[in-house]
Amino acid sequence: MSIPQERRLVTAIPGPKSQELLARKQAAVPTGIGTTLPVFVTRAGGGVLEDADGNALIDFGSGIAVTNVGNAAPRVVERVQKQVADFTHTCFMVTPYESYVQVCEKLNQLTPGDHEKRTFLVNSGAEAVENAVKVARYATGRQAVVVFDHGYHGRTLLTMTLTAKNMPYKQGFGPYAPEVYRVPLAYPFRWPGENPAEEAYAQAVDMIEKQIGAQNVAAVVIEPIAGEGGFIEPAKGFLPKIAQYCRDNGIVFVADEVQTGFARTGDLFACEDEGVVPDIICTAKGIAGGLPLAAVTGRAELMDEVHAGGLGGTYGGNPLACEAALGVLETIEQDDLVARARRIGEIMLPRLRAMQERFPVIGDVRGRGAMIAVELVEPGTKNPNPAAVQEVIKRCHAEGLVVLSAGTYGNVLRFLPPLVIPEHLLEEGLGILEKAFS
Ligand SMILES: *Cc1c(COP(=O)(O)O)cnc(C)c1O
Repeated sequence: MSIPQERRLVTAIPGPKSQELLARKQAAVPTGIGTTLPVFVTRAGGGVLEDADGNALIDFGSGIAVTNVGNAAPRVVERVQKQVADFTHTCFMVTPYESYVQVCEKLNQLTPGDHEKRTFLVNSGAEAVENAVKVARYATGRQAVVVFDHGYHGRTLLTMTLTAKNMPYKQGFGPYAPEVYRVPLAYPFRWPGENPAEEAYAQAVDMIEKQIGAQNVAAVVIEPIAGEGGFIEPAKGFLPKIAQYCRDNGIVFVADEVQTGFARTGDLFACEDEGVVPDIICTAKGIAGGLPLAAVTGRAELMDEVHAGGLGGTYGGNPLACEAALGVLETIEQDDLVARARRIGEIMLPRLRAMQERFPVIGDVRGRGAMIAVELVEPGTKNPNPAAVQEVIKRCHAEGLVVLSAGTYGNVLRFLPPLVIPEHLLEEGLGILEKAFS
């Protein structure tokens, strides 16, 4: 790593240069494009982001679970540099190239299940989810799509409709796409009953059968761990039951692993934790180290249904992004980042649980691997406490630790460090967090 792996604060956060750039941003970019922390980055790598003022911040965000292999990861840089000099675009649908096929072969091999698969490439997570729904509708001849409370699937018309949370994702952007139905998620911390997996499953099935009719459902789309919704790991047993219900009723089970994929959760894909095999899996974010790429991987017989020309897009599987993805997959394998993710969880979870003992504002500590969150409450209750999240984040940012919020109630702090973060920075970041809580 060429960037020193240390936190270094030489100005207030944000510093004067970043503030100047922020003023230009405000004059040039619409307010709809928000900014979590307005430090303007000039270089990044390992667990560190450097800004225009010469500060070095500890990264607990990975650009929202994208730079799992670290920023400017060496194998990614090397492949992309060679590719950019060779050719930058032909359009795979016009004159193809090998790296696209290699990425698809790799994903067919690495995603859960040993059935025959096909993969195609698009540009964003939302585009992958939209395409999964297109394939499921085509293959089943059905229209309805079932999604879950707290789900997040993107910002296009269909995927914003699939998303649960109104503000900020949907407010004012209706009317929404038709034939989308939402059912309960087995959210352990907030489920009112004793047995969230059984009870949420029963309610979901009841709604499907009474309100939609299972024979009308093309796809069930679910995140194996709800990301934007607050890193909600569904109660054990819930995902396998839903997958089984889909199998029994000819419904395409779509796993949205856009945030959970590529070693983030301590498995290559989060579905592996309970041995769930999706019919279609959507991936993006961590796939290409920051270059825009996403994939739809599914059962060959479903995917091959669609007529030639029915799927695709101008930039999907751009050669630079494909080379980056191959560099990411090599890095995950050769540096055993699945094990690194588990190790990060083993360091973070006990420290956060110890903080929970000390600070009653922490209602829940959860997550797997390097996808970890704390849910903040008004002490002694389960009432969401988004103000405390904002306060903690403000203090962390001022100390040079990049952390993000999440959650339907805005009361979750989420941690997504790059899997290559050195342990001393992980420990230092946790120390800053602890200080912010006290
Ligand atoms: C980020 C995300 C998306 C949308 O991906 P984009 O690349 O932003 O379109 C979809 N699903 C999940 C689970 C995500 O976290």
